[in-house]
Amino acid sequence: QETPVGFVGLGNMGGHMARNLLKKGYPVIAFDVSKDALSTLKNDGAVVAESPAEVAANVSRLVSMLPASAEVQEVYGGKKGILSTVKKGTLLLDSSTIDPSVSQQVAALAEKQGATFMDSPVSGGVNAARDGILTFMVGGPEASFAQAKALLDNMGKNVVYCGPVGTGQAAKICNNMLLAISMIGTSETMNLGIRLGLDPKLLAKILNMSSGRCWSSEVYNPVPGVVPGVPSSNDYKGGFGSALMAKDLGLAQNAATNTKSPTPLGSLAHQIYRTMCNQGYSGKDFSSAFLFLQEQDKK
Ligand code: NAD
Repeated sequence: QETPVGFVGLGNMGGHMARNLLKKGYPVIAFDVSKDALSTLKNDGAVVAESPAEVAANVSRLVSMLPASAEVQEVYGGKKGILSTVKKGTLLLDSSTIDPSVSQQVAALAEKQGATFMDSPVSGGVNAARDGILTFMVGGPEASFAQAKALLDNMGKNVVYCGPVGTGQAAKICNNMLLAISMIGTSETMNLGIRLGLDPKLLAKILNMSSGRCWSSEVYNPVPGVVPGVPSSNDYKGGFGSALMAKDLGLAQNAATNTKSPTPLGSLAHQIYRTMCNQGYSGKDFSSAFLFLQEQDKK
């Protein structure tokens, strides 16, 4: 029998990830501010806690999957936060996508308590989370990586060591900047092709056998009906919200500023997703860039 694993943040991603741990036979002690999310996981067999502190008091391994930097700071460093009760030797894995400097700050606080914090953000959408085939990008002490990998292997198919704490986030931010650019590019292309009289399924098929092929065209096409089972085919519900993408693009822009790196397309992608958020697309999957462009056409 495995010892219990703590899980904080049971949203679109975290709910599936925690369920995969349960399926693999790990007892899970969970917390989320959403009562609905908590009761769903309770029905799936988890023990629910009243606060992150209560979770941390009962485990020696913990995973968190929260929206952004502010929630991670609160869940770890807040009054009823993880670090108020964490036991010495606990492994803390944060899979949220946040600012690398925040991962470093939380890691330093954890170290003072004798715990190890590693950033372990993920790539792969909600379906990859459900199917346990995420890619984890892990930053932190190399000596703790094997233990982290043993747990993360239950939720993903690739677990990659990136370097010191914060480097997992660095890899993730770079990936998502490229993803946003390719999603907008795919959306523009599909919209143009449809207006030129091409059938969207046929156009996607041709792109996917040609040099324009990318994850956004092939696996997660933004045009409804082209790929079954992805958010675009379900009214852009679920998936990866445009607000979260705007957040990640902001992180990339901060990083670009800090390192004096030119990122003209990343900067434009940030503006486009921020505009989408201001026009009611925050909660829609980020592939709604296609819908946004279509609506712009109509104006
Ligand atoms: P989500 O908004 O669906 O889930 C976040 C969960 O955290 C919610 O259930 C919310 O109630 C909970 N939460 C918020 N504040 C809390 C607090 N103080 N204490 C406890 N729980 C709290 O987000 P998501 O789509 O699951 O994404 C989570 C993270 O993973 C984000 O950083 C996102 O950028 C990243 N990510 C998402 C995807 C995706 O496809 N959705 C893919 C890769 C990475």
